[in-house]
Amino acid sequence: MGIIVQKYGGTSVADAQRVRNVAERILYTQSKGHQMVIVVSAPAGKTDELLALARGVAKKPSSREIDMLLATGEQISIALLAMAINDLGGKAISLTAAQVGIKTDDIHQKAKITEISSRRIEEELSKGQVVIVAGFQGINSQNDITTLGRGGSDTTAVALAASLKADLCEIYTDVDGVYTADPRLVPNAKKLKEISYDEMLEMASLGTKVLHLRSVELGKKYNVPIHVRSSFNENPGTIVKGGALMEQGRVVVGVAHDNKISKLTISKVDDKPGVAAKIFARLAQSDINVDMIVQSASKEGLADISFTVNKEDALKAEEVATSMIEELVAQSVERDDNKAKISIVGTGMLTNPGVAAKMFSALANKKINIEMISTSDISISTVIPASDVEIAVQTLHSVFELDK
Ligand code: ADP
Ligand code: ASP
Ligand code: MG
Repeated sequence: MGIIVQKYGGTSVADAQRVRNVAERILYTQSKGHQMVIVVSAPAGKTDELLALARGVAKKPSSREIDMLLATGEQISIALLAMAINDLGGKAISLTAAQVGIKTDDIHQKAKITEISSRRIEEELSKGQVVIVAGFQGINSQNDITTLGRGGSDTTAVALAASLKADLCEIYTDVDGVYTADPRLVPNAKKLKEISYDEMLEMASLGTKVLHLRSVELGKKYNVPIHVRSSFNENPGTIVKGGALMEQGRVVVGVAHDNKISKLTISKVDDKPGVAAKIFARLAQSDINVDMIVQSASKEGLADISFTVNKEDALKAEEVATSMIEELVAQSVERDDNKAKISIVGTGMLTNPGVAAKMFSALANKKINIEMISTSDISISTVIPASDVEIAVQTLHSVFELDK
Protein backbone atom coordinates (compact mmCIF):
# COMPACT_ATOMS: atom_id res chain seq x y z
CA MET A 1 0.00 0.00 0.00
CA GLY A 2 0.99 3.59 -0.43
CA ILE A 3 2.52 6.37 1.60
CA ILE A 4 0.63 8.16 4.35
CA VAL A 5 1.86 11.51 5.63
CA GLN A 6 0.70 12.40 9.13
CA LYS A 7 1.42 15.65 10.91
CA TYR A 8 1.15 15.97 14.68
CA GLY A 9 0.85 19.48 16.17
CA GLY A 10 2.42 20.76 19.37
CA THR A 11 -0.35 19.66 21.74
CA SER A 12 -0.14 16.10 20.40
CA VAL A 13 3.54 15.85 21.42
CA ALA A 14 3.37 18.06 24.51
CA ASP A 15 4.59 15.44 27.01
CA ALA A 16 6.04 11.93 27.26
CA GLN A 17 2.68 10.17 27.46
CA ARG A 18 1.34 11.97 24.41
CA VAL A 19 4.48 11.21 22.42
CA ARG A 20 4.03 7.52 23.27
CA ASN A 21 0.35 7.67 22.26
CA VAL A 22 1.33 9.16 18.92
CA ALA A 23 4.01 6.47 18.50
CA GLU A 24 1.39 3.76 19.05
CA ARG A 25 -1.01 5.34 16.60
CA ILE A 26 1.70 5.49 13.93
CA LEU A 27 2.74 1.86 14.44
CA TYR A 28 -0.89 0.76 14.28
CA THR A 29 -1.36 2.45 10.89
CA GLN A 30 1.96 1.08 9.66
CA SER A 31 0.85 -2.43 10.68
CA LYS A 32 -2.00 -2.11 8.12
CA GLY A 33 0.68 -2.09 5.44
CA HIS A 34 1.33 1.61 4.90
CA GLN A 35 4.61 3.45 4.56
CA MET A 36 4.62 6.22 7.15
CA VAL A 37 6.09 9.69 6.86
CA ILE A 38 5.51 11.76 9.98
CA VAL A 39 5.89 15.51 10.43
CA VAL A 40 5.98 16.93 13.93
CA SER A 41 5.85 20.37 15.50
CA ALA A 42 7.74 21.52 18.55
CA PRO A 43 6.10 20.57 21.86
CA ALA A 44 3.25 22.99 22.71
CA GLY A 45 4.57 26.32 23.98
CA LYS A 46 8.19 25.61 22.99
CA THR A 47 8.34 28.00 20.04
CA ASP A 48 7.01 30.86 22.20
CA GLU A 49 9.47 29.96 24.92
CA LEU A 50 12.36 30.11 22.44
CA LEU A 51 11.18 33.48 21.11
CA ALA A 52 11.12 34.80 24.68
CA LEU A 53 14.71 33.58 25.14
CA ALA A 54 15.74 35.50 22.04
CA ARG A 55 14.09 38.67 23.29
CA GLY A 56 15.90 38.21 26.61
CA VAL A 57 19.31 38.56 25.01
CA ALA A 58 18.69 41.08 22.25
CA LYS A 59 16.29 43.93 21.47
CA LYS A 60 16.19 43.07 17.80
CA PRO A 61 17.54 39.56 17.21
CA SER A 62 18.28 38.91 13.55
CA SER A 63 15.84 36.74 11.63
CA ARG A 64 18.63 34.36 10.67
CA GLU A 65 19.49 33.64 14.30
CA ILE A 66 15.82 33.42 15.27
CA ASP A 67 15.38 30.68 12.69
CA MET A 68 18.49 28.88 13.98
CA LEU A 69 16.93 28.95 17.46
CA LEU A 70 13.29 28.15 16.61
CA ALA A 71 14.19 25.16 14.48
CA THR A 72 15.52 23.44 17.60
CA GLY A 73 11.96 23.07 18.94
CA GLU A 74 10.97 20.66 16.18
CA GLN A 75 14.23 18.77 16.62
CA ILE A 76 13.22 17.90 20.19
CA SER A 77 9.98 16.33 18.96
CA ILE A 78 11.43 14.29 16.10
CA ALA A 79 14.10 12.74 18.29
CA LEU A 80 11.69 11.91 21.14
CA LEU A 81 9.11 10.42 18.78
CA ALA A 82 11.73 8.26 17.04
CA MET A 83 12.93 7.03 20.46
CA ALA A 84 9.37 6.19 21.53
CA ILE A 85 8.67 4.24 18.33
CA ASN A 86 11.93 2.31 18.63
CA ASP A 87 11.13 1.58 22.26
CA LEU A 88 7.76 0.13 21.24
CA GLY A 89 9.54 -2.28 18.92
CA GLY A 90 9.11 -0.26 15.73
CA LYS A 91 11.78 1.16 13.45
CA ALA A 92 12.01 4.92 13.13
CA ILE A 93 14.52 7.53 12.05
CA SER A 94 14.31 11.29 12.63
CA LEU A 95 15.48 13.75 9.97
CA THR A 96 15.88 17.52 9.93
CA ALA A 97 14.88 19.53 6.87
CA ALA A 98 18.53 19.77 5.87
CA GLN A 99 18.90 15.98 5.99
CA VAL A 100 15.79 15.51 3.86
CA GLY A 101 16.62 18.35 1.47
CA ILE A 102 13.68 20.72 2.01
CA LYS A 103 14.85 23.81 0.14
CA THR A 104 13.30 27.23 0.67
CA ASP A 105 13.76 30.79 -0.52
CA ASP A 106 15.89 33.17 1.52
CA ILE A 107 13.21 34.97 3.53
CA HIS A 108 13.86 34.07 7.15
CA GLN A 109 10.84 33.51 9.42
CA LYS A 110 8.45 33.27 6.46
CA ALA A 111 10.34 31.15 3.98
CA LYS A 112 8.53 29.36 1.17
CA ILE A 113 9.41 25.81 0.17
CA THR A 114 10.87 25.77 -3.33
CA GLU A 115 11.98 22.16 -3.71
CA ILE A 116 11.94 18.86 -1.84
CA SER A 117 14.20 15.95 -2.52
CA SER A 118 12.42 12.65 -1.90
CA ARG A 119 15.53 10.45 -2.23
CA ARG A 120 16.51 10.12 1.44
CA ILE A 121 12.93 9.57 2.60
CA GLU A 122 12.31 6.91 -0.05
CA GLU A 123 15.55 5.19 0.87
CA GLU A 124 14.55 5.01 4.56
CA LEU A 125 10.99 3.94 3.75
CA SER A 126 12.31 1.06 1.68
CA LYS A 127 14.18 -0.14 4.79
CA GLY A 128 10.86 -0.26 6.65
CA GLN A 129 11.57 2.82 8.73
CA VAL A 130 8.95 5.25 9.94
CA VAL A 131 10.45 8.53 8.71
CA ILE A 132 10.00 11.43 11.10
CA VAL A 133 10.65 14.86 9.64
CA ALA A 134 11.01 18.15 11.51
CA GLY A 135 8.18 20.48 10.48
CA PHE A 136 8.35 24.24 10.03
CA GLN A 137 12.00 24.32 8.88
CA GLY A 138 13.94 24.35 5.64
CA ILE A 139 17.31 25.36 4.27
CA ASN A 140 17.97 28.23 1.90
CA SER A 141 20.42 28.69 -0.96
CA GLN A 142 23.29 29.17 1.55
CA ASN A 143 22.29 26.02 3.47
CA ASP A 144 21.18 28.27 6.34
CA ILE A 145 18.20 27.17 8.40
CA THR A 146 14.94 28.96 7.61
CA THR A 147 11.44 28.64 9.10
CA LEU A 148 8.13 28.78 7.30
CA GLY A 149 6.16 31.13 9.58
CA ARG A 150 4.12 30.26 12.68
CA GLY A 151 2.04 27.16 12.16
CA GLY A 152 4.26 26.13 9.24
CA SER A 153 4.51 22.41 10.06
CA ASP A 154 1.19 21.88 8.27
CA THR A 155 2.88 23.16 5.13
CA THR A 156 5.84 20.80 5.55
CA ALA A 157 3.34 17.91 5.71
CA VAL A 158 1.34 18.87 2.63
CA ALA A 159 4.50 19.63 0.66
CA LEU A 160 5.91 16.20 1.52
CA ALA A 161 2.59 14.54 0.64
CA ALA A 162 2.67 16.25 -2.76
CA SER A 163 6.29 15.42 -3.50
CA LEU A 164 6.00 11.78 -2.36
CA LYS A 165 2.63 11.39 -4.13
CA ALA A 166 1.19 10.14 -0.85
CA ASP A 167 -2.23 8.51 -0.68
CA LEU A 168 -3.29 10.60 2.27
CA CYS A 169 -2.24 13.65 4.27
CA GLU A 170 -3.60 13.73 7.80
CA ILE A 171 -3.20 16.75 10.08
CA TYR A 172 -3.63 15.76 13.71
CA THR A 173 -4.42 18.60 16.08
CA ASP A 174 -6.29 19.37 19.30
CA VAL A 175 -9.70 19.78 17.64
CA ASP A 176 -11.34 17.03 15.62
CA GLY A 177 -11.82 19.05 12.45
CA VAL A 178 -12.57 22.41 10.92
CA TYR A 179 -15.55 24.04 12.59
CA THR A 180 -17.93 26.80 11.50
CA ALA A 181 -16.02 29.07 13.91
CA ASP A 182 -13.25 28.62 16.49
CA PRO A 183 -14.84 26.20 18.99
CA ARG A 184 -12.93 27.99 21.75
CA LEU A 185 -15.03 31.10 21.12
CA VAL A 186 -18.26 29.50 19.91
CA PRO A 187 -19.13 26.42 21.96
CA ASN A 188 -21.97 25.42 19.62
CA ALA A 189 -19.86 25.67 16.44
CA LYS A 190 -20.46 22.74 14.07
CA LYS A 191 -17.82 20.48 12.58
CA LEU A 192 -17.74 20.55 8.77
CA LYS A 193 -17.56 17.13 7.06
CA GLU A 194 -15.79 18.70 4.16
CA ILE A 195 -14.74 22.10 2.94
CA SER A 196 -13.43 23.24 -0.45
CA TYR A 197 -9.86 24.37 -0.92
CA ASP A 198 -11.13 27.84 -1.84
CA GLU A 199 -13.22 28.27 1.29
CA MET A 200 -10.46 26.86 3.49
CA LEU A 201 -7.94 29.16 1.81
CA GLU A 202 -10.17 32.09 2.60
CA MET A 203 -10.72 30.96 6.21
CA ALA A 204 -6.98 30.39 6.74
CA SER A 205 -5.99 33.70 5.20
CA LEU A 206 -8.54 35.44 7.43
CA GLY A 207 -7.09 34.04 10.64
CA THR A 208 -8.43 30.49 11.12
CA LYS A 209 -5.22 28.96 12.34
CA VAL A 210 -6.25 25.29 12.31
CA LEU A 211 -4.37 25.06 8.97
CA HIS A 212 -1.40 27.12 7.83
CA LEU A 213 -2.39 29.12 4.75
CA ARG A 214 0.48 27.83 2.57
CA SER A 215 -0.53 24.24 3.33
CA VAL A 216 -3.96 24.82 1.81
CA GLU A 217 -2.41 26.58 -1.20
CA LEU A 218 -0.15 23.59 -1.81
CA GLY A 219 -3.04 21.16 -1.24
CA LYS A 220 -5.02 22.95 -3.92
CA LYS A 221 -2.09 23.27 -6.34
CA TYR A 222 -1.10 19.60 -6.13
CA ASN A 223 -4.59 18.28 -5.44
CA VAL A 224 -3.70 16.69 -2.09
CA PRO A 225 -6.84 16.12 0.00
CA ILE A 226 -6.12 17.12 3.62
CA HIS A 227 -7.82 15.31 6.48
CA VAL A 228 -7.91 17.44 9.66
CA ARG A 229 -8.54 15.35 12.76
CA SER A 230 -7.75 14.88 16.43
CA SER A 231 -4.91 12.82 17.86
CA PHE A 232 -6.94 12.33 21.04
CA ASN A 233 -9.85 10.34 19.55
CA GLU A 234 -10.89 8.37 16.48
CA ASN A 235 -13.59 10.79 15.27
CA PRO A 236 -13.74 11.40 11.55
CA GLY A 237 -12.48 14.91 10.93
CA THR A 238 -12.87 17.36 8.07
CA ILE A 239 -11.71 16.72 4.51
CA VAL A 240 -10.34 19.73 2.67
CA LYS A 241 -10.60 19.02 -1.04
CA GLY A 242 -11.53 20.21 -4.51
CA GLY A 243 -14.38 19.22 -6.79
CA ALA A 244 -18.06 19.03 -5.94
CA LEU A 245 -18.98 19.18 -2.28
CA MET A 246 -22.24 17.99 -0.79
CA GLU A 247 -22.89 21.16 1.13
CA GLN A 248 -21.56 23.55 -1.50
CA GLY A 249 -23.67 26.62 -2.06
CA ARG A 250 -24.32 27.49 1.56
CA VAL A 251 -24.25 31.25 1.77
CA VAL A 252 -21.82 31.32 4.67
CA VAL A 253 -19.73 28.30 5.78
CA GLY A 254 -17.80 29.88 8.59
CA VAL A 255 -16.78 32.86 10.66
CA ALA A 256 -13.05 33.57 10.93
CA HIS A 257 -11.33 35.90 13.34
CA ASP A 258 -7.83 37.23 13.69
CA ASN A 259 -6.91 39.11 16.84
CA LYS A 260 -3.30 39.45 15.89
CA ILE A 261 -3.56 42.51 13.71
CA SER A 262 -2.40 46.08 14.09
CA LYS A 263 -3.73 49.17 12.39
CA LEU A 264 -1.41 51.95 11.30
CA THR A 265 -2.49 55.38 10.16
CA ILE A 266 -0.34 57.89 8.32
CA SER A 267 -2.07 61.24 8.79
CA LYS A 268 -2.36 64.13 6.40
CA VAL A 269 -0.30 62.95 3.47
CA ASP A 270 -0.35 64.89 0.24
CA ASP A 271 -3.24 63.61 -1.84
CA LYS A 272 -1.41 63.31 -5.15
CA PRO A 273 -0.51 60.51 -7.57
CA GLY A 274 2.30 58.19 -6.51
CA VAL A 275 2.05 58.65 -2.75
CA ALA A 276 0.34 55.33 -1.99
CA ALA A 277 2.67 53.58 -4.44
CA LYS A 278 5.68 54.95 -2.55
CA ILE A 279 4.40 53.88 0.89
CA PHE A 280 3.42 50.37 -0.05
CA ALA A 281 6.49 49.75 -2.19
CA ARG A 282 8.67 50.63 0.79
CA LEU A 283 6.70 48.30 3.08
CA ALA A 284 6.97 45.49 0.54
CA GLN A 285 10.74 45.99 0.29
CA SER A 286 10.86 45.30 4.03
CA ASP A 287 8.89 42.04 3.51
CA ILE A 288 5.86 43.39 5.34
CA ASN A 289 2.55 42.01 4.13
CA VAL A 290 -0.08 44.71 4.18
CA ASP A 291 -3.64 43.50 4.46
CA MET A 292 -6.47 46.05 4.40
CA ILE A 293 -5.94 49.60 3.14
CA VAL A 294 -8.29 52.55 3.50
CA GLN A 295 -7.70 56.11 2.35
CA SER A 296 -9.91 58.84 3.79
CA ALA A 297 -11.59 61.43 1.59
CA SER A 298 -9.24 64.27 0.76
CA LYS A 299 -9.58 67.53 2.75
CA GLU A 300 -7.62 70.56 1.52
CA GLY A 301 -5.41 68.29 -0.54
CA LEU A 302 -4.52 66.05 2.42
CA ALA A 303 -5.70 62.50 3.22
CA ASP A 304 -5.17 59.86 5.92
CA ILE A 305 -3.99 56.40 4.85
CA SER A 306 -4.74 53.50 7.21
CA PHE A 307 -3.63 49.92 6.76
CA THR A 308 -3.42 46.73 8.75
CA VAL A 309 -0.53 44.30 9.21
CA ASN A 310 0.21 41.24 11.30
CA LYS A 311 1.01 42.22 14.89
CA GLU A 312 4.45 40.63 14.43
CA ASP A 313 5.22 43.11 11.65
CA ALA A 314 3.67 46.15 13.36
CA LEU A 315 6.81 47.61 14.87
CA LYS A 316 8.76 47.26 11.64
CA ALA A 317 5.85 48.76 9.67
CA GLU A 318 5.73 51.69 12.07
CA GLU A 319 9.47 52.26 11.65
CA VAL A 320 9.20 52.16 7.87
CA ALA A 321 6.24 54.55 7.84
CA THR A 322 7.88 56.91 10.34
CA SER A 323 11.05 57.01 8.28
CA MET A 324 8.96 58.33 5.37
CA ILE A 325 7.20 61.17 7.21
CA GLU A 326 9.39 63.93 5.76
CA GLU A 327 9.40 62.52 2.26
CA LEU A 328 5.59 62.25 2.32
CA VAL A 329 5.15 65.59 4.05
CA ALA A 330 2.86 63.67 6.41
CA GLN A 331 1.90 64.78 9.88
CA SER A 332 2.27 61.62 11.98
CA VAL A 333 2.15 57.82 12.15
CA GLU A 334 -0.08 56.13 14.67
CA ARG A 335 -0.07 52.46 15.59
CA ASP A 336 -2.92 50.62 17.33
CA ASP A 337 -2.35 47.01 18.36
CA ASN A 338 -5.82 46.47 19.80
CA LYS A 339 -7.67 45.56 16.65
CA ALA A 340 -9.19 42.38 15.31
CA LYS A 341 -10.53 41.24 11.99
CA ILE A 342 -13.81 39.36 11.80
CA SER A 343 -14.83 37.74 8.54
CA ILE A 344 -17.58 35.61 7.09
CA VAL A 345 -16.70 33.12 4.35
CA GLY A 346 -18.80 31.19 1.83
CA THR A 347 -18.99 30.57 -1.91
CA GLY A 348 -22.76 31.08 -1.77
CA MET A 349 -22.13 34.79 -1.27
CA LEU A 350 -21.40 35.08 -4.97
CA THR A 351 -25.07 34.66 -5.79
CA ASN A 352 -26.83 35.98 -2.67
CA PRO A 353 -27.24 39.74 -2.35
CA GLY A 354 -27.73 41.31 1.06
CA VAL A 355 -25.10 39.30 2.95
CA ALA A 356 -22.96 42.35 3.75
CA ALA A 357 -25.96 44.33 4.98
CA LYS A 358 -26.97 41.46 7.23
CA MET A 359 -23.45 41.25 8.66
CA PHE A 360 -23.12 44.98 9.30
CA SER A 361 -26.52 45.33 10.95
CA ALA A 362 -25.85 42.33 13.20
CA LEU A 363 -22.64 44.04 14.41
CA ALA A 364 -24.42 47.40 14.74
CA ASN A 365 -27.14 45.83 16.88
CA LYS A 366 -24.40 44.82 19.32
CA LYS A 367 -23.00 48.38 19.19
CA ILE A 368 -19.76 47.16 17.60
CA ASN A 369 -18.00 49.85 15.61
CA ILE A 370 -16.71 48.81 12.18
CA GLU A 371 -13.47 50.64 11.38
CA MET A 372 -12.53 49.10 8.06
CA ILE A 373 -14.23 46.83 5.53
CA SER A 374 -12.91 44.67 2.72
CA THR A 375 -14.51 42.06 0.50
CA SER A 376 -13.54 39.28 -1.88
CA ASP A 377 -15.83 37.12 -4.01
CA ILE A 378 -16.35 34.72 -1.15
CA SER A 379 -15.75 36.72 2.02
CA ILE A 380 -16.50 39.95 3.83
CA SER A 381 -14.14 41.25 6.51
CA THR A 382 -14.37 44.02 9.06
CA VAL A 383 -11.84 45.50 11.46
CA ILE A 384 -13.26 46.07 14.95
CA PRO A 385 -11.87 46.74 18.44
CA ALA A 386 -10.15 43.60 19.77
CA SER A 387 -12.28 43.67 22.92
CA ASP A 388 -15.40 42.93 20.83
CA VAL A 389 -14.07 39.80 19.11
CA GLU A 390 -15.87 37.16 21.09
CA ILE A 391 -19.28 38.76 20.95
CA ALA A 392 -18.84 39.57 17.24
CA VAL A 393 -17.96 35.98 16.30
CA GLN A 394 -20.83 34.56 18.34
CA THR A 395 -23.31 37.07 16.92
CA LEU A 396 -22.39 36.39 13.28
CA HIS A 397 -22.36 32.64 13.90
CA SER A 398 -25.93 32.79 15.12
CA VAL A 399 -27.24 35.38 12.61
CA PHE A 400 -26.07 33.21 9.71
CA GLU A 401 -27.54 30.13 11.43
CA LEU A 402 -24.28 28.18 11.42
CA ASP A 403 -25.32 26.30 14.54
CA LYS A 404 -28.30 24.79 12.70
P1 ADP B 1 -1.53 22.60 16.17
O1 ADP B 1 -0.61 22.97 17.27
O2 ADP B 1 -2.01 21.18 16.25
O3 ADP B 1 -1.01 22.96 14.82
P2 ADP B 1 -3.20 24.97 16.17
O4 ADP B 1 -3.29 25.65 17.48
O5 ADP B 1 -2.31 25.53 15.14
O6 ADP B 1 -2.87 23.43 16.42
O7 ADP B 1 -4.66 24.86 15.52
C1 ADP B 1 -5.73 24.29 16.22
C2 ADP B 1 -6.56 25.40 16.85
O8 ADP B 1 -7.19 26.17 15.84
C3 ADP B 1 -7.72 24.90 17.68
O9 ADP B 1 -7.35 24.61 19.00
C4 ADP B 1 -8.74 26.02 17.59
O10 ADP B 1 -8.81 26.81 18.75
C5 ADP B 1 -8.22 26.89 16.46
N1 ADP B 1 -9.28 27.22 15.48
C6 ADP B 1 -9.59 28.48 15.06
N2 ADP B 1 -10.61 28.46 14.22
C7 ADP B 1 -10.99 27.17 14.08
C8 ADP B 1 -12.00 26.51 13.32
N3 ADP B 1 -12.86 27.20 12.53
N4 ADP B 1 -12.10 25.16 13.41
C9 ADP B 1 -11.25 24.46 14.19
N5 ADP B 1 -10.27 25.03 14.94
C10 ADP B 1 -10.13 26.37 14.89
N1 ASP C 1 6.35 25.19 16.14
C1 ASP C 1 5.92 26.16 15.15
C2 ASP C 1 4.94 27.15 15.77
O1 ASP C 1 4.64 27.05 16.95
C3 ASP C 1 5.37 25.50 13.91
C4 ASP C 1 4.09 24.71 14.09
O2 ASP C 1 3.66 24.43 15.21
O3 ASP C 1 3.49 24.37 13.05
O4 ASP C 1 4.47 28.01 15.09
MG1 MG D 1 -1.02 24.76 13.73
